[in-house]
Amino acid sequence: MGATGSIGSAALDVIARHPQRFRASVLTANTQVNELAELCRRFEPELAVIADAKLESALRTQIEAAGLRTRASSGAAALVEAAAGDDCDTVLAAIVGAAGLESTLAAARTGKRVLLANKEAIVMAGPLLLDALRIGGGDLLPVDSEHNAIFQCLPGGRPDLARAGVRRILLTASGGPFRGKKRPELATITPDQACAHPNWRMGRKISVDSATLMNKGLEVIEAHWLFGASAAQIEVVVHPQSIIHSLVEYNDGSVLAQLGNPDMRTALAYALAWPGRVDAGVAPLDLLALARLDFEAADLDTFRCLGLAYRALQAGGTTPAILNAANEVAVAAFLQGSLPFLAIAELIEATLDAQPGETLVNLGQLVYVDLTARQHAQRIMRTSFC
Ligand code: NAD
Ligand code: MG
Repeated sequence: MGATGSIGSAALDVIARHPQRFRASVLTANTQVNELAELCRRFEPELAVIADAKLESALRTQIEAAGLRTRASSGAAALVEAAAGDDCDTVLAAIVGAAGLESTLAAARTGKRVLLANKEAIVMAGPLLLDALRIGGGDLLPVDSEHNAIFQCLPGGRPDLARAGVRRILLTASGGPFRGKKRPELATITPDQACAHPNWRMGRKISVDSATLMNKGLEVIEAHWLFGASAAQIEVVVHPQSIIHSLVEYNDGSVLAQLGNPDMRTALAYALAWPGRVDAGVAPLDLLALARLDFEAADLDTFRCLGLAYRALQAGGTTPAILNAANEVAVAAFLQGSLPFLAIAELIEATLDAQPGETLVNLGQLVYVDLTARQHAQRIMRTSFC
């Protein structure tokens, strides 16, 4: 899901290295119909889904012209059917944002192996995703590099933390492109500056999230649901080189870390091949060339989104979904040039103030909460920020 994106492309690179072992049998995209058709020519999937229904005939025409037997479909319901259907036994959830929620839940409910990159889904709907996994009985493998690292450093992947003797989870953060800068220096940041990440090449939404540290905030909430860690047990450490992908601290003083070059193919290969390992095409880590690893505290006064995410986690219920919706609205407006960089955190905070969270009950309620939060954020943006 999200085959044309940054994670989708990295995953297809790993899959193409192991044709005997893996096959991309379903490919989906949002609007990039030519890119999706090109991937169909290359991977010959059973099914290709374009989310934008207006583009289905263009997709079908290209598939037919190439003489492929790939079936084509379109729309949000087709994405869910593709995730739940018989054409695949593993689903890489790599759609960006809330748009990936329903297909991720559907894959979990049907007992498939879910490789989770779409962190917004678990932030919004942690308990619903865990319920769906329980019902389906399949495995969830984290693809987010930090959570993949933590999974690798815990016995059995996702154990009971108290029984495993875990004291804390240390999530590493690169600090993004503006590490060390103060608020006055961030007033005139442009979308291209925010998307120029020092260590990772990613989609534009997550790149902005990395620049505001909301990405780390979403990851704190993701770690809470994936590993059953309380907010107090999850600490963020800025590590500018992005070589240590995260650490687990145990009661006996041991700290286990997972290291590697910053390349998402490592996490993707691990999730695809688990419990085995396969070549990911990633260069070996050269510690001597690297020479040093640095650590510093996160600057919560400058990067206020991280604190807002802790606030949402502590509030619980639907508040993380409200945080996520407000962030998606704010980031989209920033990328369009209609909201200043520093106003992203302000807009999210104002939306959290305007919309109290409720107990999380089901998907229908969550979809409504998400929509309402987007409307609140849009209204606040019009009246206070634009
Ligand atoms: P991207 O923007 O590069 O790709 C997003 C993909 O989702 C594209 O294939 C796009 O067509 C599809 N998509 C977008 N909107 C859609 C919609 N409404 N309906 C259906 N499909 C839609 O994003 P990315 O950087 O690959 O990130 C994907 C997810 O993985 C995000 O949740 C991100 O937080 C997470 N993630 C990314 C990285 C990374 O290195 N890029 C690392 C960790 C986690
Ligand atoms: Mg990450």
